[in-house]
Amino acid sequence: MTEHASSANGKRTLIEVENLVKYFPVKGGVFHRVLAWVRAVDGVTFSIKEGETMGLVGESGCGKTTLGRTMLYLIEPTAGTVHFQGTDVFGLRGKERKEMRRNMQIIFQDPFSSLDPRMPIGKSITEGLRIHGIGNAQEQADIAVDMLRKVGLDDYHAKRYPHEFSGGQRQRIGIARALALRPKFIVADEPVSALDVSIQSQVLNILRALQSEFNLTYLFIAHNMSVVEHISDRVAVMYLGKFVELAPRGEIYSNPLHPYTQALMSAIPIPDPKIRRKRIILPGDVPSPLNPPSGCRFHPRCPVVMDHCSAQEPELKEVTPEHFTACWRVE
Ligand code: ATP
Repeated sequence: MTEHASSANGKRTLIEVENLVKYFPVKGGVFHRVLAWVRAVDGVTFSIKEGETMGLVGESGCGKTTLGRTMLYLIEPTAGTVHFQGTDVFGLRGKERKEMRRNMQIIFQDPFSSLDPRMPIGKSITEGLRIHGIGNAQEQADIAVDMLRKVGLDDYHAKRYPHEFSGGQRQRIGIARALALRPKFIVADEPVSALDVSIQSQVLNILRALQSEFNLTYLFIAHNMSVVEHISDRVAVMYLGKFVELAPRGEIYSNPLHPYTQALMSAIPIPDPKIRRKRIILPGDVPSPLNPPSGCRFHPRCPVVMDHCSAQEPELKEVTPEHFTACWRVE
């Protein structure tokens, strides 16, 4: 995946991730030495096109947040590269790195923790503008009001404080804040996971409307397949630091190939009470990323495991056009 300009559907590649690795050191002992490494992201390669939404799904602890944050260079990578419109993100320093950050923003699951409780939210929304020296005080205040309207809030909300808002409203504020700098790329890290189902769809609708208005590109993180179903163009499934499947939405939901994706799919509720889907319950917990299992990392929990699976790691391979999976069974 090395193309920068064109792709199958004619859209330009916005962001390209190549063999991205992020290990966290585990330190201990009197000398605070590194005793082991948490392999949070362990060699991930993909690209996202302009205006595209890529869903990223996997159980808690599989490395989704770390992947998103490393892509934005909020944390140092261990290895690998990220190119944004052809520019090597990890090669940027000082002013250039700051400038790049304008283009790449993040929306958190819990926007409350990222909002200063003593700052009126109009000021929080425009914090990035002040950091980047964009506009005077009046212009910034106007942008705050404009952003509030775009996320369905009112002008007077600019003067209120974070504790005066509901969870759904706070998430709208988080979106307004990410958007104020007019970024091109947004990592939406479980933006609706903490919200009621009825509020979830409102926030998803706002994200979708803003995407077409501002030609935004999203990496949309969730821990289950149902949340990303309606917003994603493609979906990647992550397990213990690696992608196990990546495919266009229609393809992955109608024909999931990896047993882990099949298990995640079986957990999606069906709205018709007459139809029952057999739920695949995986045995055990996700193994520790400190010491991932040999061969295929999923093999200790896999319902269709074969002898070979513990011996050698399967590569992520294109099985049908644009449908990638890493499974010996499929091969
Ligand atoms: P969740 O859905 O619970 O947010 P996740 O899939 O986003 O999980 P990450 O938060 O990326 O997973 O964490 C991946 C692994 O890296 C976990 O084992 C986590 O404990 C570890 N990890 C994350 N951040 C750090 C850190 N700063 N130092 C050490 N280990 C970390």
